[in-house]
Amino acid sequence: MSVALRDVPAPEPAEGFALLDVAFSGLCGTDLHICAGEHSRAQPGIVIGHELVGTLAAPAGGLAAGQAVFANPMMHCGTCDACTRGLVHVCERLRSVGIDRPGAACARVLVPAGGLYALPDGAALADAALVEPLAVCVRAVRRSALEVGERVHVVGGGPIGCILALLAADAGASEVSLSEPSATRRALAGGLGIATVHPERPEPVWDVVFDATGVPAVAASLGRWARVGGRVVVVGAYPPAPVPVDLLRVMFAELSLVGTRIYTRDDIAAAIGIVASGRLGLSRLVSEVVPLVEGVRAIETLRAGTALKLLLRP
Ligand SMILES: [Zn+2]
Ligand SMILES: [Zn+2]
Repeated sequence: MSVALRDVPAPEPAEGFALLDVAFSGLCGTDLHICAGEHSRAQPGIVIGHELVGTLAAPAGGLAAGQAVFANPMMHCGTCDACTRGLVHVCERLRSVGIDRPGAACARVLVPAGGLYALPDGAALADAALVEPLAVCVRAVRRSALEVGERVHVVGGGPIGCILALLAADAGASEVSLSEPSATRRALAGGLGIATVHPERPEPVWDVVFDATGVPAVAASLGRWARVGGRVVVVGAYPPAPVPVDLLRVMFAELSLVGTRIYTRDDIAAAIGIVASGRLGLSRLVSEVVPLVEGVRAIETLRAGTALKLLLRP
């Protein structure tokens, strides 16, 4: 599959959805998978863009037109076992704007009316474009049950890996390191003040290991990074086919293997608060704000691995 810029019809108002004028739309690894034709659900012709902030084009969800919002792109079915248990973020039929229906890499988009979050007055919308990946990391750190003083290692130096490292340090980790095979990305992480260690020399000293890669070769070695009794948190999305994991190490060292998937309402609210506080300095992750008309170049830049976060601006 390839990626192209083309005109699409403006969306019409629809029941259960809000019309949003897009301010910024973040690009991530999921978009690369979609553009490469490797995503399990996305179909050719889809408008990408699931990390979005903007202003309401019309009143919705009790908010006035013109209100700046973060929009949760996820849609749950409401009837599956997960939804019945209140775990709508792991709905068995979870769908997303920008994957299953037209996304935010355009000027105007329909977003689920039930997933609108008013942004604080004066919030910088470009910073708020990082709420979505930050919410993923909030969920992951909460799932890790990180305690003050613990030592954390992050495998993978993309935007999620870097945000995880910054957030874990902010949450009280005594030591945070990151491993990443790309020298370019190690330098980018280093520029954010994140200590990097060589990916070929794992030492089993870390209380919590976050896997922000989704790379099968990493899965096999994850257990070697965690100390006895440590926790390994799988944050990156793996291909659908099973991959080898060293379960003997999991068993011998009594490791906990923890999954984490997107975010709950609570995680989003926390992410908005953190962005508004400005304390992680997340705007430093944005390598470039790219005009939408140069969107194809943005995808190529992201694929080349020379940038951290790229935002599209219609
Ligand atoms: Zn994303
Ligand atoms: Zn469901």
